[in-house]
Amino acid sequence: MASLSRALRVAAAHPRQSPTRGVGPFNLSNAAGPTAEKSVPHQRTLKEGQGTSVVAQGPSRPLPSTANVVVIGGGSLGCQTLYHLAKLGMSGAVLLERERLTSGTTWHTAGLLWQLRPSDVEVELLAHTRRVVSRDLEEETGLHTGWIQNGGLFIASNRQRLDEYKRLMSLGKAYGVESHVLSPAETKTLYPLMNVDDLYGTLYVPHDGTMDPAGTCTTLARAASARGAQVIENCPVTGIRVWTDDFGVRRVAGVETQHGSIQTPCVVNCAGVWASAVGRMAGVKVPLVAMHHAYVVTERIEGIQNMPNVRDHDASVYLRLQGDALSVGGYEANPIFWEEVSDKFAFGLFDLDWEVFTPHIEGAINRVPVLEKTGIKSTVCGPESFTPDHKPLMGEAPELRGFFLGCGFNSAGEGLGHRCGHRLTCPPVCGRRFHHSLTDHPRWIRERSHESYAKNYSVAFPHDEPLAGRNMRKDPLHEELLEQGCVFQERHGWERPGWFHPRGPAPVLEYDYYGAYGSRAHEDYAYGRLLADEYTFAFPPHHDTVRMPGLQRGRRCFYLVGLDARKAADWLFSADVSRPPGSTVYTCMLNHRGGTESDLTVSRLAPSHQASPLAPAFEGDGYYLAVGGAVAQHNWSHITTVLQDQKFQCQLIDSSEDLGMISIQGPASRAILQEVLDADLSNEAFPFSTHKLLRAAGHLVRAMRLSFVGELGWELHIPKASCVPVYRAVMAAGAKHGLVNAGYRAIDSLSIEKGYRHWHADLRPDDSPLEAGLAFTCKLKSPVPFLGREALQQQRAAGLRRRLVCFTVEDKVPMFGLEAIWRNGQVVGHVRRADFGFAIDKTIAYGYIHDPSGGPVSLDFVRSGDYALERMGVTYGARAHLKSPFDPNNKRMKGIY
Ligand SMILES: Cc1cc2nc3c(=O)[nH]c(=O)nc-3n(C[C@H](O)[C@H](O)[C@H](O)COP(=O)(O)OP(=O)(O)OC[C@H]3O[C@@H](n4cnc5c(N)ncnc54)[C@H](O)[C@@H]3O)c2cc1C
Repeated sequence: MASLSRALRVAAAHPRQSPTRGVGPFNLSNAAGPTAEKSVPHQRTLKEGQGTSVVAQGPSRPLPSTANVVVIGGGSLGCQTLYHLAKLGMSGAVLLERERLTSGTTWHTAGLLWQLRPSDVEVELLAHTRRVVSRDLEEETGLHTGWIQNGGLFIASNRQRLDEYKRLMSLGKAYGVESHVLSPAETKTLYPLMNVDDLYGTLYVPHDGTMDPAGTCTTLARAASARGAQVIENCPVTGIRVWTDDFGVRRVAGVETQHGSIQTPCVVNCAGVWASAVGRMAGVKVPLVAMHHAYVVTERIEGIQNMPNVRDHDASVYLRLQGDALSVGGYEANPIFWEEVSDKFAFGLFDLDWEVFTPHIEGAINRVPVLEKTGIKSTVCGPESFTPDHKPLMGEAPELRGFFLGCGFNSAGEGLGHRCGHRLTCPPVCGRRFHHSLTDHPRWIRERSHESYAKNYSVAFPHDEPLAGRNMRKDPLHEELLEQGCVFQERHGWERPGWFHPRGPAPVLEYDYYGAYGSRAHEDYAYGRLLADEYTFAFPPHHDTVRMPGLQRGRRCFYLVGLDARKAADWLFSADVSRPPGSTVYTCMLNHRGGTESDLTVSRLAPSHQASPLAPAFEGDGYYLAVGGAVAQHNWSHITTVLQDQKFQCQLIDSSEDLGMISIQGPASRAILQEVLDADLSNEAFPFSTHKLLRAAGHLVRAMRLSFVGELGWELHIPKASCVPVYRAVMAAGAKHGLVNAGYRAIDSLSIEKGYRHWHADLRPDDSPLEAGLAFTCKLKSPVPFLGREALQQQRAAGLRRRLVCFTVEDKVPMFGLEAIWRNGQVVGHVRRADFGFAIDKTIAYGYIHDPSGGPVSLDFVRSGDYALERMGVTYGARAHLKSPFDPNNKRMKGIY
């Protein structure tokens, strides 16, 4: 037994020989520390009573020859997935676990469940988990899962952290999560052993608690088995069988194990840190890395009983109540990568690296000083997977039909996992985020996953950007714009312009691992400084710089061509896109539940027998699709899946790497472009929502008259080699009209002012276009069938239960999304997206509202309310608008200023 203070001394006295451990393999045997004892503190683990390995004895029950779905992995995710499949009534579901249930990461989890996180989706997922473990499972099985509701306490040591907690408190109201901001004195009363001298305040969430991994997984497995599912332990999966259908589509055929095979069309990969290995069996890339993650368990602490769990984000440390002791863990800047993930690792732990862990001890002693004199009973250091964007990998893999992912939980798999297990059983959710050039790129995965670990407890500021894995995908104007002060944002590998800084270039440099592993942290890093300047929940210092409309860029382009292209377009797109060549239509793509998978523009192409960068040669029909760069992979995967399901004979071609795009918007756009393009740009000759192949400064381009910011304007889609000369010609012509560069920050502000929706913020796969006010994009009056049509018709007949509403705020306060929406004294939703509208000089916010009595949300319901938006615990009067508050009659797009 050693005390925490001794641990500190030992770590200080034995500094690592080489400070540059690098990111390579770490020799575990070097680890020295005050305790070598490692045992997991939970009341019971499934390891107990196991005796000798039973793998050699064969599977715990005979394998069926067929199954409707096989879940691989019996950890938290696998058990949750199996349970939800069974509950949804799916027969023939089988879970195969290599060893015993929970033997991977789950058995040693800390099991903390915090209900509030800075993401509405995650808050929803956590609420579901809490319901299942604290109520549903017990009601269903009569078994207690081991759930302990001792509450959670978030510590704020600075103003911004407290602001973030207040934001969480407001968001929590939309989900019924009770929370309270406490003063240091109130915190001391609640938690007498806490040092509150350096506190700004805390956030107390009384219904947070702790899950017991063994109890939860056993109960899930029993409940699933009672509904007919099968759990088979001691049965490692050794291969995935794949077949290729008549259309060349790869599909799952079955799984192979050491003890025979099972024929199945559907596999769910819940293999935790082993998920990449299981993916390789199927030719599917699973972008996650395994890292050591640890906590230590203290000896008994007098007076700690019944205290809430504590998360001290600024110290990057958590304190979990463990009976009459504490478990202390955290997130360090230099986590250890588990390079060679061993398939022999069951109920295993690593030795703790005290040097890596020491900062957590310092943080813990500062927060609960009695820890300095408290002994350490055991150390728990196990493997956990981290992903490049700190979000789980879920949904069907784009490379293989029938192969689903449920892994990469970034040390939150206990809390997030239940709802994810449930969602996995729905159609694909979010396994479509990364372009194959990224999932093929080990350095990108490693850097980004490191950053996601190291920043796990950082404040989630609205305008933050990653510093890791940058400059992966650049478009042709990148260097040109960089020179002009472009501050880039990163979206799924693409560098796109965020805004323009008046004081010169701010390039994104190679990732420095924040100085970890002996790497040298960048000094005087202009880009990092600009980001840090904006670490605020107030109006950022560069607020005014982003206001200018002008010239923006950044959409990605696909061609949909072939004999069945028209049939495919009718089915895929909610709007009628079968207009004459030369037309451009704004439309949605829906799923079968009527939820929105994308919004995009579709331009009908004239037949073409000669290929050029601006149109492939094709037979039949052809469409040019322009989609948001950040969601291009999602669009690609959705379209591909639908084409495969419907067996349409057509091709989808990705031209994103071959074309660049600039968009010239504003009152002077016509005059500017008239000097550059070789065509008449009058309303009569070039009406709104049309496109043409033209020459710009001698280069062939596709010009489209449309706008994502509500102004008169054109997009020029330009072959890569012509981008720079065309851009320079436009800038030269625009000089006398005051044309300026602008990026996505300007688009965000201008588009919200105009009421244009953004997919992923205002529109998601659970939001229908009817709810989002986009009924005009749905060809419901025509008899043409399209994907999602029936669901929309049912929704319309039943009346909408929620509706996206635009609000303007009376006071001049910044909002960024997640604020609670009050109507007549009740919370009816939360803000999905908010920004400042410079033309109307007000903050504008969009959010879905519902009727607390459960009734339909009619336009009268919207109109008749008295609204306020709650930001950081303070409410501000707000006005609801049924039409955009700016240029509601769309005059500007018609050139009427
Ligand atoms: C120290 C620590 C503390 C944590 N604390 C928390 C916390 O407080 N709150 C929280 O929400 N999360 C926490 N986590 C994270 C959480 O524990 C994990 O996200 C979660 O347990 C992952 O579950 P899983 O089912 O994805 O993976 P695992 O539990 O690893 O399950 C994967 C299973 O797949 C099996 N398997 C692998 N390959 C095969 C194969 N070929 N055939 C068959 N089976 C196979 C393995 O044997 C294993 O049982 C913590 C993690 C660590 C390491």
